[in-house]
Amino acid sequence: MIEIKPIEELRDCNGKIIIAGPCSAESESQIFETALQLSNIGIKYFRAGIWKPRTRPSTFEGIGESGLMWLKQIKEMTGMKVTTEVAKPEHVEKALNAGVDILWIGARTTASPFAMQEIANSLKGTDTPVLVKNPINPDIELWIGALERLSLAGIKRVAAIHRGFSTYGDTKYRNTPIWEIAAELHSMIPQLPILCDPSHIGGSRELILPISQKAMNGIYSGLFIESHCNPDKALSDNKQQITPVELSEILKNLNINL
Ligand code: PEP
Ligand code: MN
Repeated sequence: MIEIKPIEELRDCNGKIIIAGPCSAESESQIFETALQLSNIGIKYFRAGIWKPRTRPSTFEGIGESGLMWLKQIKEMTGMKVTTEVAKPEHVEKALNAGVDILWIGARTTASPFAMQEIANSLKGTDTPVLVKNPINPDIELWIGALERLSLAGIKRVAAIHRGFSTYGDTKYRNTPIWEIAAELHSMIPQLPILCDPSHIGGSRELILPISQKAMNGIYSGLFIESHCNPDKALSDNKQQITPVELSEILKNLNINL
């Protein structure tokens, strides 16, 4: 049995949690412009990848540690809470030292019990909220195992993110959603908040609204969405990022079930 405590940092906004921001922190101008625009449309939680787990080498692997200072400044300037991905203890230590409020675990890391255990060990004694993406393969036990490792290390303020699952070949989705797996997780651990990441599920701008709507009709507590001030120029995931203005339109058009 996994003990879950509420994440007060994630106070509901209109009853749903909306976390938005670029796939990656790229440059000072990109991250500040995006953050200010998101704050202006009422976003309270800002995401940005600092260390990027790229499928292939020789692609942009994140700005690294120096980007943490930008997150700190964004927090101070806008009052938004900030979150970034951690994949090893060194990331945890650096992110927490820089005042990152919430950590997230990427899909490839959730799938790795050794990495998860190391991260859980490095979080011992802290009370940091952690969002755990589903593993890339459709294995609910791996997802639960990652949550359990955190719980056994004393990290009780956790939530899950459904970001879809890898499949081979061309499909409508970049990562196919398996709504039943998230629903099963919800019925096994009802107090665990589950967010939906329509950006990594869809892989394209047009799919953000329909996937978000499907999630809002279901058991989801909120959305985790990629937004960039100039998506076409993004250094990672450029096809799926939307501008803050487009995000604002999507949020207005969503029929949210409270
Ligand atoms: C991301 O959120 O940018 C990311 C790398 O996600 P995932 O772990 O879902 O691929
Ligand atoms: Mn991304």
